[in-house]
Amino acid sequence: AKNAGKARWRLFSPEMEAARQETASIERGLDQALAKDQFVLHYQPITDLETGRVTSREALLRWYSPERGWTSPDLFIPVAEQTGQIREIGAWVLERACREAAAWPDGARVAVNVSPRQLGGGVLPDLVLSALLRSGLPVDRLELEITETTLLGGDAATLTDLRVLREMGVRIALDDFGVGFSSLAHVRTFPFDRIKIDGSFVRDAVQRPECRAVVGVIAALGRRLGVATVAEGVETAEQLALVREEGCSEVQGYLIGRPAPLSQDGRPDAAADLA
Ligand code: C2E
Ligand code: CA
Ligand code: CA
Ligand code: CA
Repeated sequence: AKNAGKARWRLFSPEMEAARQETASIERGLDQALAKDQFVLHYQPITDLETGRVTSREALLRWYSPERGWTSPDLFIPVAEQTGQIREIGAWVLERACREAAAWPDGARVAVNVSPRQLGGGVLPDLVLSALLRSGLPVDRLELEITETTLLGGDAATLTDLRVLREMGVRIALDDFGVGFSSLAHVRTFPFDRIKIDGSFVRDAVQRPECRAVVGVIAALGRRLGVATVAEGVETAEQLALVREEGCSEVQGYLIGRPAPLSQDGRPDAAADLA
């Protein structure tokens, strides 16, 4: 009886109730966010370590609502994924990112994050095609970032969509590499064009040899496979030197450039000079 009481208490704990209400508030807010034009994309540069040039920019979604203020994507993306709202939001991101990138003077690629629920059934390839046609963005300037979670289900429909997209000429990047349970297995699941090393390894690599080793091994894997390896989350000169030494081919992080909105005339921020 004591245990049952405890369990019941847990079910109705104030923390859980607060979390439930927060999720419901986000869901309600997201329902109107598109119609009210509350989303904006920020872009963060990704720089090639050899040439020092910006190869691409990652589109990162930002949401402001008068009711909630700014809500972090780490909070609202999981809710949108849970509710399925990410399909509509993701379609907007894709469309907007292609249109904005088409006007960049330097011709850098744009990298768009894609959630598991956007894949399967051929919807995404169709959306990509129409976004490219409408924007005039050449297909080789679009990159899609997916995480391991997308592949974990291993379902055929997801892989079919990814293959179709890649055959169209869209680049596919494996995001947050190294944090999952079976990162290495995915290298054979799908032929990725680039691997993004999760920022947690980069952050700890200076202090912890085992994290540095992971960075080095992934960079070596990239070289063997002939795919670029992007070190995410580079914040200090020391980290930059380290990932360069370990053989990563590209870097992304606050040191090089923070995610930022485009200027009024649609130009991206300049990235820090690495030379
Ligand atoms: P992510 O795809 O791993 O994106 C990288 C995150 O790291 C971004 O957080 C970025 O602002 C942050 N970051 C970049 N450089 C540094 C650095 O040097 N230090 C630190 N501490 N952080 C850095 P953000 O913008 O808050 O986005 C969080 C996550 O939300 C993203 O993680 C991604 O999973 C998701 N997300 C953002 N935009 C979209 C979107 O349009 N669609 C989908 N499906 N997910 C998105
Ligand atoms: Ca990403
Ligand atoms: Ca990432
Ligand atoms: Ca992440």
